[in-house]
Order: sequence, then structure tokens, then C-alpha cells
Amino acid sequence: MNIAMIGTGYVGLVSGACFAEFGSTVTCVDLNANKIERLRNGEISIYEPGLDDLVAKGQKSGRLRFTTDVAGSVAVADAVFLAVGTPSRRGDGHADLRYVEAAAFEVAKALTGYTVIVTKSTVPVGTGRRVAELVRESNPAAAFDVASNPEFLREGSAIGDFMRPDRVVIGCESDRAREVLRELYRPLYLLETPIVMTDLETAELTKYAANAFLATKITFINEIADLCEKLGANVQDVARGMGLDGRIGKKFLHAGPGYGGSCFPKDTLALARTAQDAGSPVRIVETVVQINDRRKGAMAGRIMAACGGSVRGKTIAVLGVAFKPNTDDMRDAPSLSVIPALQDAGAHVRAHDPAAMREAGPLLPGVEWCDDAYQTAEGAHAVALLTEWNEFRGLDLSRLGASMAARVFVDLRNVYRPEAVRGLGFEYSSIGRQ
Ligand code: NAD
Repeated sequence: MNIAMIGTGYVGLVSGACFAEFGSTVTCVDLNANKIERLRNGEISIYEPGLDDLVAKGQKSGRLRFTTDVAGSVAVADAVFLAVGTPSRRGDGHADLRYVEAAAFEVAKALTGYTVIVTKSTVPVGTGRRVAELVRESNPAAAFDVASNPEFLREGSAIGDFMRPDRVVIGCESDRAREVLRELYRPLYLLETPIVMTDLETAELTKYAANAFLATKITFINEIADLCEKLGANVQDVARGMGLDGRIGKKFLHAGPGYGGSCFPKDTLALARTAQDAGSPVRIVETVVQINDRRKGAMAGRIMAACGGSVRGKTIAVLGVAFKPNTDDMRDAPSLSVIPALQDAGAHVRAHDPAAMREAGPLLPGVEWCDDAYQTAEGAHAVALLTEWNEFRGLDLSRLGASMAARVFVDLRNVYRPEAVRGLGFEYSSIGRQ
């Protein structure tokens, strides 16, 4: 099978490399010529464990190629995946479909022979049909079907998620297209991966419903964490006690500074808007969006409170700025709310992140970037742990504290045991624990 992957970002690059590993011939296309040139030279545009090796392997086998030429790659493809961005539209929170529509238009012009056009991007219900309409209008002679195949991979464990998914969702109304997609995912049948075959609208909505549910789970435990602080309970034990119930599950029950990243914030908002427009509002999701926004804003206040109510003239050491570990993705990261609020309140911020400093630099002006956690903490009046990278999990806290101006530790990810940190003379605060 021959695949054209339109959009070589997080999803396009990982999916392309994984499909090549499955045995398909994949051409990853992007408008960004610089990105394509770097990929051709073996430079991976994102930080994702294992991706460099997989891409190198695909290139060596001749099954993975990179180009800016949409027409050439589409002309020979059995399936064209649209994996372009669908950010929030400024002002109203709906998904901005301009990249999807532009890509569909480019693809339409280049179609030759029967082709399945698959939306892998997260797109609102109705987009698949809209893509079909656009293609039909601009190339009435084209032989094609559309399908929806939303992607559920997580940044940081994207390859494993793609290669061994919990399920694959395919929305499609033509037997011929269904066969093409079955063939592409055949390697997963050996693993007995469940394939949910459904219609376009259902596949599109399933992705939003899944993300909104996970965001709700995080927000739920965050509110329980706040309640734990008032009542003297321990949120980690509550989460464990809840999560061991198979009906609930342990994942996404870690209290923290609020969800961020490239998907949950925009997808919750887009689902809320779609539902309002459909006259069937999802009030739980609307509330989740509000609570999470407020929570990210409130985290700087916690750091200020730990510093005695003011950070004016103080130095704050921030450990981790990416929205989660094992990624350099800064989209909607809590650090983007916390750090500017600290700076506005008069703090000088020093920070370190193992992978995201290049991405974060332009987004967080005024931050002094450091080489590691220990250098970051030098002279600081407080350390704030924002992203739970492994290298921050086993810090030598005596060494860290020795160079600080004051031993204050704000652990927004509950990485450390309060007694252990306090035992080393720190004032320690965390989320939902005494
Ligand atoms: P991204 O911004 O990393 O990548 C999108 C890429 O598409 C960019 O490189 C851009 O240059 C390129 N592009 C835009 N228009 C193009 C065109 N007409 N032709 C060729 N290239 C074009 O985005 P992403 O994070 O990979 O997300 C893509 C989609 O997948 C979104 O809808 C997102 O919601 C969804 N998704 C993302 C994740 C994730 O973890 N990042 C997970 C699941 C689903």
C-alpha cells in the first residue's frame, strides 16, 4: 500500500514512520520546506523517544520519504491521510479547519485513480463530509471515498501507542475504502487490536468524547485535591483507592496544575462549541474548561503563598516547562500561565527543562535558562516543580537546598514525599496533601 501523509507534525511524522514500519510505502508531506529538508537529513523536528531510530530505519528501507510535493505523493497513493493542525479558532473556540480545507483542496487537484482520503486530524463532526464536498467541487471526475481515522497517540509514548493501540476507530461508509484501511492496519490484527468500524460522524465524535472524558477525569481529581487540602485528606491515596476500582481505572487521576498540551484544551473547547451549536450542550465539559483555565491561573498564587505572599525581588527556580514529560511540546503548557504571572509579580525566573527549552525560549521571554536542576536552584528563594521529568524525580535535595537563598519547595506534581523533603529543612507544599 502507498500512503501520502499530508502534514508532518507530531501525528503525521509518528503515523508515517509507524505505517512504514508496518510495511507500507509512506511519503510524508509538509508545507514547511525547512522541516522536510531537516527530516531528509535525519534531523527529527520533535522530541519523541524512539522516533529518530524509527525514522532512520524507514528511510533506510526506502519505505519512508519526505517531500513538499503534494501532487507527486498524492498521485501514487492508495490512501491520503490529512494530519494537519486543527487549532482553536481565535475568538470562538471552534476548531479552525483552514488547514484541513486547504490540504483537501490541494489533494483534490492531484488525485489520479481511486484514493481513500482519511482525516487523521481531530476534526469536528461533519468535517469528513465537508472534505468530500470540497474534493468533489474541485475535481468532479475524481474517484475517491472519505474516511475518518482519529488518532489517539500520546506525546511521549507515541510510537508504542500507535503500534499497540487500545483500539483503532474507523469511520467509513464504503466497502472499498474499508478494505484499504483494513489492509493498512492488518499488522494490528495479529495483536487482536479491536477495530471500531462505524460511520463518519461517530468516528469524529468518538475522538472528542474520549479527550473530553480524560480531561474531565483530570479536572475531577484536581478538584478533589483542593477538597483534600481543606479536609486534611491525601489525594494520592484517594486516587489510588478510586483508581483500583476497575470501573474507574488508575490513569488520568494524578492531581496537578491543570491539563495542557496540544489536544485537551482545544478539543474540550471545540466539543463544547459544537454541542452548543447543535442545541445539546455538554455542560460538564464547559465546566471542565472553566475550572482548568482558572486552575492554571491559580498555580502562580500557590508559589507566591509559599514564598510568604510575595515574590517581588525574589528568584524562583522552575523545574520543567513542557506540558508533560518526554515531550518538547509547549502548547498550552501550565508553565505559560505560571511563569509570566510570577514575572508580573516581580520575580526573576530561572528554569530548566530537559527537552523543551528551545521551544519555550521565544514563548517565555525574560526567563534565565539553566543547564540542570542544581544550577537552576542556585540563589533561588523557591523551587517549583512543574513537569515531572524523570531527572527531577530523584534529585539530591540536600545539594539542591545548599545553594538556595531559602529552602522552599513547591511540588505541583506530587513527586516527593512531604516528610522526606521537610526532613531536609525545606518548607514543602504540594497538591492535595498535608
Ligand atoms: P502539528 O502542528 O505538529 O503538525 C501539523 C503539520 O501540518 C505542520 O508541520 C504544518 O506545517 C503541516 N501543514 C499544515 N497545512 C499543510 C498542508 N496544506 N500541506 C502539508 N502540510 C501542512 O500538529 P499535530 O500535533 O501533529 O496535530 C495534527 C492533528 O492531529 C490535530 O488535529 C491534532 O488535534 C491531532 N492529534 C494530535 C495529537 C498530538 O499528541 N499532537 C494526538 C492525537 C491527535
